Amino acid sequence: MTMPRSHRVAGAVIGSAVGDALGAPFEFGPAGQFSARFPTDARGAATEMCGGGALRWAPGEFTDDTQMALLLAQSLVERGGLDEADVFDRFRRWADANPPDIGNQTRAVLGSGLPWDRAAAEHFARSGHAAGNGSLMRTTPAAVFFAPQGREGTMDAARRISALTHGDPSAGEGCAVFHELVRVALDGGDPLAAVDDALAAVPTEHRGRWATVLAPEWTPADATESNGAVWPTLGQAVWALRGATSFAEVMRRVIDLGGDTDTVAAVAGGLAGAVFGIAGIPMRWTSVVHGRVPGDGDRRWDLADLHALAAALTGSRFARHRPPSTPGLEPREVADGVWASDLDGARHSSRDFAVISLCRVGEPFGHPVQRFAYLTDDDANSELDAVLADVLDDIEALRAEGRPVLVHCHAGQSRTGLVLRAWLRRSQGLTAQQATDTVAGRWPHLSRWNDSFTAALERVH
Ligand SMILES: [Mg+2]
Repeated sequence: MTMPRSHRVAGAVIGSAVGDALGAPFEFGPAGQFSARFPTDARGAATEMCGGGALRWAPGEFTDDTQMALLLAQSLVERGGLDEADVFDRFRRWADANPPDIGNQTRAVLGSGLPWDRAAAEHFARSGHAAGNGSLMRTTPAAVFFAPQGREGTMDAARRISALTHGDPSAGEGCAVFHELVRVALDGGDPLAAVDDALAAVPTEHRGRWATVLAPEWTPADATESNGAVWPTLGQAVWALRGATSFAEVMRRVIDLGGDTDTVAAVAGGLAGAVFGIAGIPMRWTSVVHGRVPGDGDRRWDLADLHALAAALTGSRFARHRPPSTPGLEPREVADGVWASDLDGARHSSRDFAVISLCRVGEPFGHPVQRFAYLTDDDANSELDAVLADVLDDIEALRAEGRPVLVHCHAGQSRTGLVLRAWLRRSQGLTAQQATDTVAGRWPHLSRWNDSFTAALERVH
């Protein structure tokens, strides 16, 4: 089954923010710290989204990389295209609001008082040091927005946006290559196989250096500068993707490199998210990703906002989903420590529950642990087995900590029923039929209409 493009779009936008938040606590640290702290998946109440670092980020909080990406994305959506003066103004208002983290070069250019079409160029002419990764780190939403314009269109847009803060065309070429790789991935192609075509569209004077860091045999040990520079940042992201079979593995590989971990993970997360899709990103990470954008009314962004933005970048109305209310089924224990309810039953349930939400909920409930699985009640779940495994693994970890787990979807029927039945198969070794009979006996709301769920249930072991 082909992955819907919308899964790849959301995967890119949210994957970049997830990478930023996941890497932030390890910024400027040595190599290997992520795996030293998390030798295996952390699926209990405390996850790899641990927060901290020099700037004391909250768990799941994104940094300047995503803040700038959101400013850029909002400009593209609201202006209906690239309005460089508008993007620059948004960046400048943000810089004026004293964000907790801002790159040196970005701060110098935005604080120069010069207009958008001169500030970065004059900084570059004066300093010569401009090929930082600060324009690459924020460009994923633009890569999504301009993908439909084809290779030339998206690469050109990347260069123009980069040039707003980074006068060195080397940085612009890195953004252009990234845009093209994301474009190919969103189309369902293999971005690693598209590297040569992307390089062919890079001007000759820049091509050699980019070809070096994007070559299959290049490794981070070959880098000639720190990953605060643009070349190793993209080189590491592509290297991580080349050696990985999942989004989580890409994250582990890049954050373990140390250095500018939030930015490299944001770049790698944008590309890997387009490859593995939103359903390929562990829900324990997407569920807690959040942050604020100083100067933007200081509003809080969370997962549902990022989903709305991802959709808006591809032409939908920019609006958060507001689900209708439901009867509010009282939670009932269906398996040992695993409970079921519908949307409003879960919303008003005891805060002691670790909640697994299988539908869109509008506002999060306020439970200390609430996870959002990407699951639709139709046959469009191209990554159904992976999502189900992610959910079951998290239930297992949360139960091992002694937490009651409450599973719900909108009506508490089909998606909830799938997870409860799959959990019984996993935890008690029941056959699909035994699991179905058991759940039906304890949870009369069970619905079996979805054939793709029935098939997935058979595959659980
Ligand atoms: Mg950052």
